[in-house]
Amino acid sequence: MTEPIRDITIVGGGTAGWLAAAMLNRYLNRNASAPVRVSLIESGKLPPIGVGEATVPPMRQVLHDLGVDENEFFKRCNATIKLGVRFTNWDVDDEGRPVEYLNSLTEGPVVNGHNPGAPFMAFAPESWDFPRTVLPTDHLIDQGRAPRGIGDPQYDAKLGYAYHFEAGLFAEFMRDHATGQGVHHIIDDVEHVEMGSDGNVAALHLSENGRRPVQLVIDCTGFKGLIINKAMGEPFEPYSDTMMNDRAVVGQIPRGAEDTIYPYTGAWALSSGWVWRIPLYSRISSGYVFSSAHLSDDEARAELLNHWGVDEETFQPRVVPMRVGKTRRTWVNNCVSIGLASGFIEPLESTGIYMTDRAIRFLIDYFPDQGYDQRLQDRYNELMGQVFDEVRDFIVLHYYQSNRDDTPYWRAARHETAVPQSLLDNLEVWKRAMPSPLDLPEHRLFSAWTYQHVLFGKGFYKGANVAESRHVSRADWEHFRQIVENAKTQLAQNLPDQRAFLASLRGSNTSAGEPDAARRVSADVTT
Ligand SMILES: Cc1cc2nc3c(=O)[nH]c(=O)nc-3n(C[C@H](O)[C@H](O)[C@H](O)COP(=O)(O)OP(=O)(O)OC[C@H]3O[C@@H](n4cnc5c(N)ncnc54)[C@H](O)[C@@H]3O)c2cc1C
Repeated sequence: MTEPIRDITIVGGGTAGWLAAAMLNRYLNRNASAPVRVSLIESGKLPPIGVGEATVPPMRQVLHDLGVDENEFFKRCNATIKLGVRFTNWDVDDEGRPVEYLNSLTEGPVVNGHNPGAPFMAFAPESWDFPRTVLPTDHLIDQGRAPRGIGDPQYDAKLGYAYHFEAGLFAEFMRDHATGQGVHHIIDDVEHVEMGSDGNVAALHLSENGRRPVQLVIDCTGFKGLIINKAMGEPFEPYSDTMMNDRAVVGQIPRGAEDTIYPYTGAWALSSGWVWRIPLYSRISSGYVFSSAHLSDDEARAELLNHWGVDEETFQPRVVPMRVGKTRRTWVNNCVSIGLASGFIEPLESTGIYMTDRAIRFLIDYFPDQGYDQRLQDRYNELMGQVFDEVRDFIVLHYYQSNRDDTPYWRAARHETAVPQSLLDNLEVWKRAMPSPLDLPEHRLFSAWTYQHVLFGKGFYKGANVAESRHVSRADWEHFRQIVENAKTQLAQNLPDQRAFLASLRGSNTSAGEPDAARRVSADVTT
């Protein structure tokens, strides 16, 4: 056993850097006999990327476990609630009209112990929509509802939810939280990374503060991967064979003070990519994620402005190049890269911050001493590889299973990009049996439910006959339908309008209380 780590230096003050600072400081300092000092260095000249505004449900657990007052978070981060992602125009119906479907963040009730997918195919009319039939989420989104009552305890809800928030405000919020808990903040630029003869980073040379020796260093410098890629030479492996999108034009749309705040992320497919619509409390954030092989920046900007019917001055578009892929080993010796420095998969399912959360938790679980045992590094790198693979498979599914054929981009998405073998294997199984937890990695983000939503939305199950069709009788199905319809009615009656809910938080002081380590925030629909 070599010396314990007493000092962690994080470089980068974007979402990844500040989340890492807050979480490492909290989790590694519970036992006061072995304190770890966490410092974060951020450039005063290079701003964070300023995108990354939709999240997935585990984000609730992150904030809860950090002891964040959720009401304060909503207020300071211009945050709103997300109940799902609505995909529009990713597929077309028999008449060529855009199809729309929801990927709900709520896992729904089961039919007499069984997945509702097979009885839906057996008993529901062909024109019915799967999520609308088996879940109350669409119904509540259409009405602009929040998933919990005004004054109800923080982090609790009748439906699974995540957040939309303003990226810059969130980084500031995390900064204040982390520094309030003792994280040391240094505003300075890393000019040079000094490598030791053992392959470790020996020191960082800062423009104002000079040479700073380091123990464990966390590279959160964004797409440039200043330490992991540039100084340590760990290769970055692009995903260009499976993913075409490599740029985004981003901007904002004003919203009226009285507009309904619909609790979903919109993902509308255009000619050569897709557009997000993220409703924040006081404005709407949007961006066109596209392939530069199929569209120039100017063409993308024009198509996006036309899509929303807004002018350039209002939208203030800026182009964000995306480095899509993964650093081969995201932990090498005494350097762990987290956030965009470690890799990035396009934001269709809002997974960037989730991957940061996973990376930090794995590092806490496999926290080394100053020997940086190779087996810990290997296990960590293997797990991060699984996280990237899982997200990649799910994103590729949206393109590969599209039935659009109207532009070179969509033809390439379906016929020219590589499809991971793991996804192809699952699709073969899912033609014959509904997606099951048994088909998916143990530590997964996307459940069998989630896969089902997308597959039904894409018409994958039209005319199919799956193994589970024998499991449920028509009477069980009708009973289940009644439960769902009752849930829709009751929830719509009892849940507040999201704008009213958020406005009430701004004047409220209901307390988060001390986080209970054993508590898991609920994500299931209550029927
Ligand atoms: C178009 C787009 C849309 C996205 N949408 C989503 C989404 O909806 N949901 C989601 O979860 N994720 C999303 N992401 C990912 C998300 O933006 C990132 O995961 C998140 O912002 C973390 O970024 P970061 O902190 O790694 O890097 P950055 O925000 O780029 O921060 C880098 C930091 O490093 C510092 N730095 C750089 N060089 C130096 C130096 N030499 N010295 C000192 N400091 C230095 C900078 O000052 C900065 O503070 C999106 C990404 C893109 C590109």
